[in-house]
Amino acid sequence: MQSVTILGATGSIGVSTLDVLARHPERYSVYALSAHSKVDELAAQCERFKPARAVVGSAAAAAQLSALLQAKGLRTEVEYGEAALCAIASAQEVDAVMAAIVGAAGLAPTLAAARAGKKVLLANKEALVMSGQLFMDAVAESGAVLLPIDSEHNAIFQCLPHNYGRQPAASGVARILLTASGGPFLKRAVETLDAVTPEQACLHPNWSMGRKISVDSATMMNKGLEVIEAHWLFGAAPDLIEVVIHPQSVIHSMVSYADGSVLAQLGNPDMRTPIAHALAYPERIASGVAALDLTAIATLQFEKPDFQRFPCLALAFAALRAGGSAPAVLNAANEIAVQSFLDLRIGFRQIDRVIDQVMQALPQGEVGSIEALMEHDRLARDAARRCIAEIAPGESQ
Ligand code: NAD
Ligand code: MG
Repeated sequence: MQSVTILGATGSIGVSTLDVLARHPERYSVYALSAHSKVDELAAQCERFKPARAVVGSAAAAAQLSALLQAKGLRTEVEYGEAALCAIASAQEVDAVMAAIVGAAGLAPTLAAARAGKKVLLANKEALVMSGQLFMDAVAESGAVLLPIDSEHNAIFQCLPHNYGRQPAASGVARILLTASGGPFLKRAVETLDAVTPEQACLHPNWSMGRKISVDSATMMNKGLEVIEAHWLFGAAPDLIEVVIHPQSVIHSMVSYADGSVLAQLGNPDMRTPIAHALAYPERIASGVAALDLTAIATLQFEKPDFQRFPCLALAFAALRAGGSAPAVLNAANEIAVQSFLDLRIGFRQIDRVIDQVMQALPQGEVGSIEALMEHDRLARDAARRCIAEIAPGESQ
């Protein structure tokens, strides 16, 4: 029996994870669940999965959740705040931690799980993009097992040899081919992108996801963050990582080998497949995902990404090549810009302009410690807010 903590249980990944766990009650028990503010949803999850602990974002949310749980006669211990998130990620009772909080808010608890030597199921790509080497060092020092949940990285993981040591050349890996759907605006006239709404940007053609990652998919910053994620997970230099547009989202990514072989992982676009894969690894368990019907799909297409249409992809490659604080700055500026777009303060095409300006304005720095990293993160958020205030004056943040 494996005991699981889900960070971000009420989100898209969190709900899919609980769906897989519920199919295998003899294999998994839920130790703890967290949510930021969706107290009613979390209470319903507690009633169904009976975790020992539940963590929310504020004292007010904790009081609300406690009252709901008491009324149901549940004994789940309720806590709130970052220290409590780190505690449920690193508690001795926990075997596996699903890191599914969105954005930088997930860094501290995900790192706590890595430092505690847990099996870390990593959905929260922003945490790894920000902390890069620091995160990989924590995994190596503690002996944690890091398993990618992002469908592309899970696919690559499945296409690499079992003893892969983060050295592509030693395993004959010639290229990592990250597939991308291209999002909802792959074919829309570029000059009309200024006018798109958050609802249009969140309408992903193949995947149903949280709003932040949906906007990231529309700008292709999601793919940019995934390029950086692939660099850290698989030890791949930027030139070894190629983005391929594949609008059907059936091939989740590929590894190209020195002998000309290309290995791919295919499946319906449903996150329960990588979640079940990582939960059971190295075994295989049912996920609830329907078998792939290749003849119904019939056609798989591929094209090169257009860096003019998707400047965020170019910005992410540039940040990876620059190294140091650049990926953390890119991520922080993106988080602020995407939230401002969702709040209707800036237009869609201003997202990449804000990030570009912030990256140009901030001096390159080292990230030798989490404290240094968080300072770069803070400076980048401040710079992004200033930039947005210039674009949308007269509105307070
Ligand atoms: P979501 O918005 O649906 O859910 C986010 C979760 O994080 C919620 O449970 C929310 O309560 C919690 N949360 C939000 N802000 C928080 C804060 N400040 N402190 C603590 N908790 C907070 O997002 P999602 O789509 O499930 O994505 C989660 C992560 O997984 C993201 O990093 C995303 O990039 C990654 N991911 C998602 C998918 C997908 O299909 N949804 C695929 C690959 C990777
Ligand atoms: Mg992905």
